[in-house]
Amino acid sequence: MNQKISRLPDDVINQIAAGEVVENPASIVKELVENSLDAGAKRITVEIVHGGQQLIRVEDDGCGMGPEDAEGCLERHATSKIRSVDDLQELVTMGFRGEALAAIASVSHLELKTSDGTATRILTEGGQVKVIEPCARNQGTTIEVRSLFYNVPARKKFQKSAGANGAQVRRVVETIALAHPEVAFSLTVGGKKTFDVAMSSKRQRVEEILGEHEHAVEAASISGFIGAPSKATSTRSSQYLFINRRPIFSPLVAKAVKEGFGTRIAEHAYPQFVLFLEISPESVDVNVHPQKKEVRFKDEAAIFRSVQKAVEGAFGAAVDFSSPISFDSPPLSSFAESFSFPAFKTVETPELDLTFRDLPLAVIGNYLLLQREHLILVDLLAAHARILFESLKYEKGTAQALIWPLEVKINPGDEEIVEELGGLGIECRLLQRTLVIDALPPFLEAADFPLFFANWKEGKKIENVTARFSRAVRKVYPLHEAVILWRRLQKCRDLFYDPLGNPIWVEVKPEELGQMIGRGKAKGRLSLEGVYE
Ligand code: ADP
Ligand code: MG
Repeated sequence: MNQKISRLPDDVINQIAAGEVVENPASIVKELVENSLDAGAKRITVEIVHGGQQLIRVEDDGCGMGPEDAEGCLERHATSKIRSVDDLQELVTMGFRGEALAAIASVSHLELKTSDGTATRILTEGGQVKVIEPCARNQGTTIEVRSLFYNVPARKKFQKSAGANGAQVRRVVETIALAHPEVAFSLTVGGKKTFDVAMSSKRQRVEEILGEHEHAVEAASISGFIGAPSKATSTRSSQYLFINRRPIFSPLVAKAVKEGFGTRIAEHAYPQFVLFLEISPESVDVNVHPQKKEVRFKDEAAIFRSVQKAVEGAFGAAVDFSSPISFDSPPLSSFAESFSFPAFKTVETPELDLTFRDLPLAVIGNYLLLQREHLILVDLLAAHARILFESLKYEKGTAQALIWPLEVKINPGDEEIVEELGGLGIECRLLQRTLVIDALPPFLEAADFPLFFANWKEGKKIENVTARFSRAVRKVYPLHEAVILWRRLQKCRDLFYDPLGNPIWVEVKPEELGQMIGRGKAKGRLSLEGVYE
């Protein structure tokens, strides 16, 4: 009888494992950086080119490996971290399966340079060793991964754009850096250093990565930072949890934090937090998911209670949780929300500023009527187009963080858009099929973004897009908003024409008004009709 069952060759096993461990550049970076941490590194340098598909390099100054370990570490289930099942109970290192390096090597060209005093260089292609030789290197390890997924075309095809992969890698490096302030990290993307943090304290590190935080949570085994209620967002993107320093996603803990905020935040908002839970390894099972992102707690209720208490406590004893506490009062109007240049934010009632030399008279349809020396008639839609055009083109640093990040579903193939929008100063990122917008330039309101986006996909030339978009929005401006547009227009490089060259405003002189009602020169014309004959 023919033998039907056969053992799979190692390279096939490794590739299958690679499907689990190495989904994309970000997961590779995560494995390599965690190895560096396990090796006791004090400085970890990450570099990627073309989102990691061309190159991923992770360099550390950890303990390094001698020639034998260097060769061994690329084999599946090679690990220096556990020897037996018992060791799993007392795990203090990040990795323990001994399959990451083998899996990564199996789907790439991998170069390992490592030294524990004796330096070795190993080159593999698709997991096959091509070169082993002594080399020069200080103590530590460098791993370079090139031609990622070159032998797994299906996976290669489904990789995201370089921009999207780069963003994910950045998130991974930031997340790990948050939990390891005693280690210096840097990240270089496409030759540009995008992230560089020296050794620091926990608080400093959080501030470096998330900006300043209001409250520190302090409790026996729980510590961390929570954002002000007003900084709560509509996604989980600012929620970080580390359990014994591993980045973990736990709906339970997220919910407990939320409870701790009580009535301070809206029902559907996600508070910002960075929490570090230190708990005994026996009371938590981290081996649930191959990527070690999820956990099971032995006593879920206890964890929930302690987290909630810690967060509540952070707000201080003076707080009365029995009645709702409103957070930052809502903006005066939707206009103020995304158009909030500082001068406007402090204005309580939007009164007209009389020191301004133009006296606003009225808004009529899409037009603003002002009095200067003569009358001025402003086409507000054209003014808006000009202002938006200039802010997209010349003022890329001025995007304003949205109180609620905006989510837009996008179609497959639209991933490049993240980079294009980024180039306009619109801060966004991609989460699967959802484009999350974090910050928009002034004069592009969150509510109108979907319309802008649709126009952008069609046009892509910002002259056309802004002009078409402003017409499409057809906003009816109240007088004070119209005045703000007019004043902002005065700061534009070109305040006379919209991006397509149409005039934005005209001055109307008394004689011209006269002509309209048949005085002055107009007499002649009217006389043709015989009225003044
Ligand atoms: P694991 O981390 O689960 O043990 P890996 O495949 O990620 O498995 O790594 C295999 C082994 O290679 C590790 O156990 C460690 O001994 C060694 N190793 C990997 N990366 C490094 C590094 N940066 N510095 C020192 N040793 C390393
Ligand atoms: Mg590992």
